Amino acid sequence: MLSYLHAFHAGNFADVQKHAALTLALTMMQAKSSPIACFDTHAGSALYDLTSERARKTAEADSGIHRLWPFRQSLASADWQPMLDILSRHTGSTDQMRSYPGSPAWFAEFARPGDSVTAFELHPTEGRSLETWATGAGVRVMQQDGLSGLLKRLPPTQPRLLTLIDPSYEIKDDYAQVADTLTRAWQKCRHGVYLVWYPVLTNGLEKRLVEALENGPVRKILRCEVMLDEPPERGMVGSGMLIVNPPWGFEQRLEAMMNDLQGSARLGLTASKTWLVPE
Ligand code: SAM
Repeated sequence: MLSYLHAFHAGNFADVQKHAALTLALTMMQAKSSPIACFDTHAGSALYDLTSERARKTAEADSGIHRLWPFRQSLASADWQPMLDILSRHTGSTDQMRSYPGSPAWFAEFARPGDSVTAFELHPTEGRSLETWATGAGVRVMQQDGLSGLLKRLPPTQPRLLTLIDPSYEIKDDYAQVADTLTRAWQKCRHGVYLVWYPVLTNGLEKRLVEALENGPVRKILRCEVMLDEPPERGMVGSGMLIVNPPWGFEQRLEAMMNDLQGSARLGLTASKTWLVPE
């Protein structure tokens, strides 16, 4: 039984990192005109009200997008601009961000004619909200398991592939299952770009995912982490992304974006990157 609801976490520091990486990958891949098949294996409900009771209960956006937004004009990297342009449509009259787009909404904003977006969501209520939102958004919604659903649809008909794998990791086995699915997906479509999000936890469970990939066949895996400068004693202390086959130059451009998040004036994070598996 799924109990995770992204409405409690939307716009937090991990979303900022994840959606920065996603929008950068989309921007860079769309520099070429050939169509892209986009898959979002764990989509959530697409649009989150940051003034809702759920969002205010945890107030996670306060140390994420709400904290970054006032600094938006002083960010050094120009690669924030596509993300900021879209976010500017989500502010109210007080320049506070009122809503925040989830991953299917980011995909939909960037999709060009010829690109396709397929979003999977297993939670019944989230799936229904996603379905309602997707009407007219050009996103194909599948209310089913995103990992097996992805594998069934690879290789895509389009020449290029971009996949976001962003589970809630409610089941401990999810870490091993994500590593296994990514490996099988890569075997079906080796040139695809795959983004995988994971939490960095005090109990180190994410090592099951990272170590399985480090010792597996998939090549060219970039690992980027942002760690909280003032972490909680237990739970999530950082946010990680694995990027398989990043476009040429992605590494440096994402690093510049993450550097913008560092320091107490911004998100209170320390960023790092390394090649988990080289070419
Ligand atoms: N990707 C979203 C974003 O960036 O805005 C956030 C997704 S949230 C972290 C994870 C979502 O995956 C939840 O909505 C959860 O209900 C859903 N989920 C959990 N297990 C799933 C599965 N096996 N297949 C598809 N969706 C699943």
